[in-house]
Amino acid sequence: MLQLNQVGRNALTRPAPPPVPPKRVPPPLPTRKTSGSSLASCYSSSSGSDRGSITSVGSNYSGRSLPPVYTGKESLPVQFAEKSKAYDMPKKNPPSLPTRSKTAPVLPPRGPPLPSRTNTSPAQNQERPQPIPRRLPPPPSISVPPLPNRPKLPVGSHTEPVISRSPPPVPRSTRPPPVPLSTRPALSSRLSPTMPCLVCYDFSGPDKHASLPQFERIRVESLQQLAVGLTAPFSDTLDRARVIFTWLHYNVSYDVHGFLHGKMASQDPEGVLQSGTAVCAGYAGLFNKLATHAGLESKVVSGHGKGYGFNSGEPYKMNHAWNAIKMDWGWHLIDCCWGSGSINGPPNPGYNKRLAPEHFINPPNVFGRSHFPEDSSWQCREDGRVIDWEEYMTPDQKEAEPLRYSSFREEFGFSEKTVQPPVNNIDTFAGRRTAFSLGLPCEHMSRKEEWVLFLSIGEFSDKNWVLMNSDGRGRYHAEVEMPNQRGLKVGLYRATTWKGNDAKGLLAKEWQAEVGKVAWGWSPIIIWGADK
Ligand SMILES: [Zn+2]
Repeated sequence: MLQLNQVGRNALTRPAPPPVPPKRVPPPLPTRKTSGSSLASCYSSSSGSDRGSITSVGSNYSGRSLPPVYTGKESLPVQFAEKSKAYDMPKKNPPSLPTRSKTAPVLPPRGPPLPSRTNTSPAQNQERPQPIPRRLPPPPSISVPPLPNRPKLPVGSHTEPVISRSPPPVPRSTRPPPVPLSTRPALSSRLSPTMPCLVCYDFSGPDKHASLPQFERIRVESLQQLAVGLTAPFSDTLDRARVIFTWLHYNVSYDVHGFLHGKMASQDPEGVLQSGTAVCAGYAGLFNKLATHAGLESKVVSGHGKGYGFNSGEPYKMNHAWNAIKMDWGWHLIDCCWGSGSINGPPNPGYNKRLAPEHFINPPNVFGRSHFPEDSSWQCREDGRVIDWEEYMTPDQKEAEPLRYSSFREEFGFSEKTVQPPVNNIDTFAGRRTAFSLGLPCEHMSRKEEWVLFLSIGEFSDKNWVLMNSDGRGRYHAEVEMPNQRGLKVGLYRATTWKGNDAKGLLAKEWQAEVGKVAWGWSPIIIWGADK
C-alpha cells in the first residue's frame, strides 16, 4: 500500500525560504507520514509496492523559519572597518602567485541604479571582490583553466596540489627534474585556482574539531586563543573557515527572546562570547573576529536577507548581515546565523539548533537569491553579473516539478537538479523522443548500482515498461518515444522484490528476461504528470 504522505513537488531546494505570500509567518509544512490517502489503486495488479512514501525532497525547512533578520534596532558592526591581514598561503610552490586583482576578470558595468536604496556604503569602497569564474574540477587537486596563447605548463607545475591537505611527500627519486628557468611560463600568466566542488568536499574534520569540549564557549579564555585552537590543525582556508562556522553553530544560539522583545544583548564579538546569544550581526561579527585572528581575510557584509517574516513585496531595508571570506579562488559568501539553526514559528517561537551546511557551501549565485548586499560588489557572483533589487525580489517562476518519493533521496541520494525532464507536466513531450534521467548531486559522487530502475509510460503494464540504463555509478538514463498523447503519466520505479526475495542486486538482464513471468514487487521513485 502506498502511503501518500506529503506532496513533494514544488519543494524548493533553496538555501533560504522562498518568497512567501504576504503573511508574517509561513504555515508549518505538513509533517511526514500522516495522510492515509493512497495511490495504490493505480498499481494494484501484482505484489505491488511497499514503502512509497512521498517526501518533500529538498525542503529543509519543515515547519521552521530562518532566524529573523535585523530589525534596525541593533547596531551592525562597522563594515569592513577592520583591515584584516592577508592570509599567509601555506607552503605552496611556486611561492608567489600574482595578486588576484590583476588576474581576475573585471566586473562588468553596473546595472542601473538600484531603486529604494539610500546609500552605497562608502566604507566598503576600498576593497571590492572580483568575480572569479568557477569550475568543478575533481578533488583534491584543482586544475588551472588554460589561457589562450599560453605556453603549456611544464609537468612539474601541474603536480603541485593547490589544496594543501597534507599530500604525501613525493619521493626524491620520482620527482621530475627541475625545469630550466627559460621554459617556465611567466607566473603572471597563471590564473587563480578554481573553486573546489563544495558538494562533495569532506568537512568532517573541521566539523568534528569544532565540537571538541575544550572549545566550549564557557571555557574560552580569549577569542585569539580560540581562533588559533580551532584552526591550527587545518592548513586550508576552506577548512579554517568551516571550523569557525561550525563552532558558532555549537556555541551561539539565536537570541529569539531578545529579538522578539527588542532587547538584545551586545552584538560585539566579546559580548556574544559572554552571552552565547546573538542575532545576525553578532554571528557575522564574531565570525569575522575569529577568522581574522586565524589569519583569514574576512568581511562582514550587510544588506537584505529573506529571513523570518519575509514579505515578497517589501521595500529594500538593511536587515541582515553575513560574511565574505577570501578563498584561494576568490570571495566566498557564508551565513553563519542561518547556518546555525532555525526558528520555530508561532505559537511557541523557539530556537532549533541545526547545522545547515548549505549556508556555507552554496555558491554566490545561489546565496544571492536570499541575500542582497547593500554594496552590490559583494554579490560576488560566478557569472560576474550584478543583479538589481527587482530581480532579487522577483520570485522564480518555477514550473511544478514531478512528484518525488522519499526513496528518491533517502535511499538513492538522487539530486532533484539532475532529474530530466525537470517538470511535472510532460504534455509537451507527447509524440517526441524524450530523455528521462537522474543522478547524484555532483559529478564526483558515485553509488554502486544495486537496484533495477524502470519507467512505466502511461498505464502500468508490462508493455509500457522501459529499463533505465545505469552507468554503474548512480546515474540512470533512458530515451523513450513518447506516445502522441496528452495527460500521460510516466512513473520511475524500482524493483523491490523478486521471486519472493529482496530485489537488491537483481541484474537488469535477469529482470528483462523474466519480468511478467515471476512474482515481483516494485515501488515508485518519481511520477511525472501526476494529479491529472
Ligand atoms: Zn563533487
